Amino acid sequence: MNILLLGSGGREHALAWKLAQSRLLSGAQDRFYAAPGNPGIADHAECVALDAADHGAVVHFCNANRIGLVVIGPEAPLVDGLADTLRGEGVSVFGPSKAAAQLEGSKGFTKDLCERAGIPTAAYVRTASFTEAVKALDNFQPPYVLKADGLAAGKGVVIPETREEALAALEDMFGGRFGEAGAEVVIEEFMRGEEASFFALTDGATILSFGSAQDHKRVGEGDTGPNTGGMGAYSPAPVLTPMLRGEVLEKIIAPTVRTLANEGMPYSGVLFAGLMLTKQGPKLIEYNCRFGDPECQVLMTRLQSDLGELMLACADNKLATCQPARFAEETALTVVMAAKGYPDAPEKGGVIDLGEAEAGATGDRVKIFHAGTKQLPDGTLVANGGRVLNVTATGKNATQAQAAAYRAVDAITFPSGFCRRDIGWREVAREGK
Ligand code: ATP
Repeated sequence: MNILLLGSGGREHALAWKLAQSRLLSGAQDRFYAAPGNPGIADHAECVALDAADHGAVVHFCNANRIGLVVIGPEAPLVDGLADTLRGEGVSVFGPSKAAAQLEGSKGFTKDLCERAGIPTAAYVRTASFTEAVKALDNFQPPYVLKADGLAAGKGVVIPETREEALAALEDMFGGRFGEAGAEVVIEEFMRGEEASFFALTDGATILSFGSAQDHKRVGEGDTGPNTGGMGAYSPAPVLTPMLRGEVLEKIIAPTVRTLANEGMPYSGVLFAGLMLTKQGPKLIEYNCRFGDPECQVLMTRLQSDLGELMLACADNKLATCQPARFAEETALTVVMAAKGYPDAPEKGGVIDLGEAEAGATGDRVKIFHAGTKQLPDGTLVANGGRVLNVTATGKNATQAQAAAYRAVDAITFPSGFCRRDIGWREVAREGK
């Protein structure tokens, strides 16, 4: 069949790499397109210029190229209802409807759903004005957790230590810092614990576990400095023991899927739960309606099942016919190489030489996923965004995967780039004990 993948980051390169291995694309006539793609994705798919925000253009492309499955990588087109438009035209789509994507598109929507379904999460209040928010602060202890309701590219959460800082942040948020996304602010109880990510595939009825991961959001070593889209990740997350994973499925994922279906918004696609492992058990921090970036890179590296078949089964409500997803019993770890100045003002145009990094040192399995790269007409690879490369390696545990990933990082020449040198530190420390 013909497949169209939408997106252009490291997440989509990992999806493209895995989809290209699918039986769905094994026929001589099968075509694989990506829009807009990137130089790494171009190794697996034909990159086409298509704007996911232009629904009419995407529909036209699907009809003209007899696309049998569209995979939507990022959240914005999902929250914008692209999956609904395509389904309306009879195209199979991996990704939730606009209504179900509110799980990511509106933090208030998710908190209300948790309340209705009895899902463990932080106590909260939704506020629609500065005055309301100031009053609501009295119900919470510092540190305060303040969240712009809508999509804010991972920057919409502020955690002030004092009431004064909280007031200043609220003024900022209601003053338009996040535009429409900040028209409402959710104030939450601060939860303590270790964070982990849990993934599930669902077609609205059947749920398949789809692995776990931990990421590093802060730009600096030791998890310091400003938040980023993610500086690295590893999978699995052994802190999510089989018992905890069972609890997450039963108390968080299943009631979410059931409630959405009962309320006429069946969820289809990948459900990505950000969790806090508290003393009282796992609690939901947030949902994302797509794969994490860079969590996707480590999940895909370990995935042994046919990704295309699983995605098509989600899209066509046939997940019940699939076997559980299989993942290699090894650790995958990815190190993000970013352009100097990231996250505030990343320097574009820095020259990159991947050298022999992907070949790996003897015995290393390495895959370099492209995020913000561009190929110049003369073939030179240059940085073209904040996060540039995702250097991914596997090992029998986090310690070995980390060592292999940094061997590959050191084989890359990228003078205007940088990376954290401690990705996976929590797990490596636990393994060292
Ligand atoms: P992203 O898109 O980067 O995943 P986001 O902006 O959608 O994040 P959240 O994931 O809800 O927002 O919050 C970002 C981070 O803030 C979390 O990863 C967590 O570290 C912290 N955080 C959020 N809510 C809480 C809470 N209630 N208690 C403690 N920490 C929290």
